Amino acid sequence: MSEGVVRTDGIVAPAIPRPRTGGLGVAGLRPSEADRSERFAAVRAGDLGSVHSWELVTAVDGPGTRMTVFLAGCPLQCLFCHNPDTMQMRRGTPVEADEVLARIKRYRSVFRASGGGLTVSGGEPLMQPGFTARLLRGAKEMGIHTALDTSGFLGAACTDEMIADLDLVLLDVKSGLPETYRKVTGRDLAPTLDFGRRLAQAGKTIWLRFVLVPGLTDAWENVEAVADYAASLPVARVDVLPFHQMGRDKWAELGMTYQLEDTTPPDEDLLTRVRGQFQARGLTVR
Ligand code: SF4
Repeated sequence: MSEGVVRTDGIVAPAIPRPRTGGLGVAGLRPSEADRSERFAAVRAGDLGSVHSWELVTAVDGPGTRMTVFLAGCPLQCLFCHNPDTMQMRRGTPVEADEVLARIKRYRSVFRASGGGLTVSGGEPLMQPGFTARLLRGAKEMGIHTALDTSGFLGAACTDEMIADLDLVLLDVKSGLPETYRKVTGRDLAPTLDFGRRLAQAGKTIWLRFVLVPGLTDAWENVEAVADYAASLPVARVDVLPFHQMGRDKWAELGMTYQLEDTTPPDEDLLTRVRGQFQARGLTVR
């Protein structure tokens, strides 16, 4: 099968950062009926989470066919975000962890046959550490491969127990220079770097992801800094993800100002140059 996202509507989308399929949403997951006061306690206990959507994907968010669960809420505000509707937790649907785990269980044979598993993504899954921990633990109890797709900014919220339940981390490093990172995300770079080192020390498999945006993240020095960091961990592979404009309309729909209106995707020469910067350090690049 060619690399791409196999959605449940049968469409194969390219393996690049992609807008969430709003049509799927949380279909198949029963929203929680807990009232407001019950919800607060359940969220604290990790029994309840705010879920944006989920989908079945192949060869994108980790190996094999995976159920990727996108949680709502993110502390970053990436200028190139393809899913700005995942930035706020209140836009998600309250769903109980047991409900998600029951759905995961249904796909056990698919995961086994394809070498796939569960990926918890967002938004930022570590905005809801208790809920994320419940999903990871539940999947491990079923013998299912687990992955976490995170910016690492909230890595301090990831407990050692959660790390033990992870087989793979997709670490999204938005930039290598602190000032560029702040321009891109509005936040500090250091927590991401710290979290990556902690994962490496724990012996976790890391795939580093870097979104290449002309005029924003493509400076030679910025890529060199990401590549140096990737080589220092080290990481199992690097995904250089070309910026695209597929999420543009969502910004307008949400009434948010989109600053990359005139930015074009990177051309082949730029992609080759940037991939070469990683390859020069002996890293495997996709
Ligand atoms: S970390 Fe991801 S979800 Fe959060 S703002 Fe950045 S691109 Fe969007």
